[in-house]
Amino acid sequence: MDPILKIAREHDLFVIEDAAEAHGAEYKGKKIGSLSDISCFSFYGNKIMTTGEGGMCLTNNEELAEKMRILRDHGMNPKRRYWHDIIGFNYRMTNLQAAIGLAQVEKLDTFIKKKREIAKTYNSLLRETKEITLPPEEKWAKNVYWMYSILVKNRDQLIEKLSREGIDSRPFFYPIHVQPPHRIREKIPVAEELSKKGINLPSFVTLKKEEIEKIADTITANIQ
Ligand SMILES: *Cc1c(COP(=O)(O)O)cnc(C)c1O
Repeated sequence: MDPILKIAREHDLFVIEDAAEAHGAEYKGKKIGSLSDISCFSFYGNKIMTTGEGGMCLTNNEELAEKMRILRDHGMNPKRRYWHDIIGFNYRMTNLQAAIGLAQVEKLDTFIKKKREIAKTYNSLLRETKEITLPPEEKWAKNVYWMYSILVKNRDQLIEKLSREGIDSRPFFYPIHVQPPHRIREKIPVAEELSKKGINLPSFVTLKKEEIEKIADTITANIQ
């Protein structure tokens, strides 16, 4: 974030932080979501905390906050009912979802603790296998391990083999620059390599130690 914020300051740009899956994560002692002009969190069903669907935007800028409130509410003028100054959206969260979200916030620390425990267990079981790159956690960062993710050479083959043992997994996302609406000709080698080699392993908060052991065994038996 520091290099990104530096470029933004030099060129008078706003920074919008995609914190969709980073609830509770930290960068140099600061919480993710507090580092930019606007940060966006997702509360989709598979995130660390959920409201089913939906999310949240944070800002410390009063003017941007007001703009977002208006855009969320059909572009309606907050002082003139049913008067729409601009084209907006219906991005309001329902009260029912918000109630679920508040209950989830109470459990968030427990969820994060569990995610970190799961990562620690996987790390200890997979560390010795040199064909596997483990997820990094830099000294200045706190990783909340939304998913436990490793890099392997024959990723698609491993997904297939895990599946045959009844173990579900997911490949990494495709990078944005190869997707049709945003395609560019340039190579972005780091993102492309991660996308090719990355696999997300089961890491839901009720995952048991024995299950992690079985998954790790299946991986190490099928990796070569
Ligand atoms: C899940 C996710 C999104 C999408 O969030 P929605 O709430 O489904 O719109 C965007 N960015 C990242 C990094 C995500 O993990």
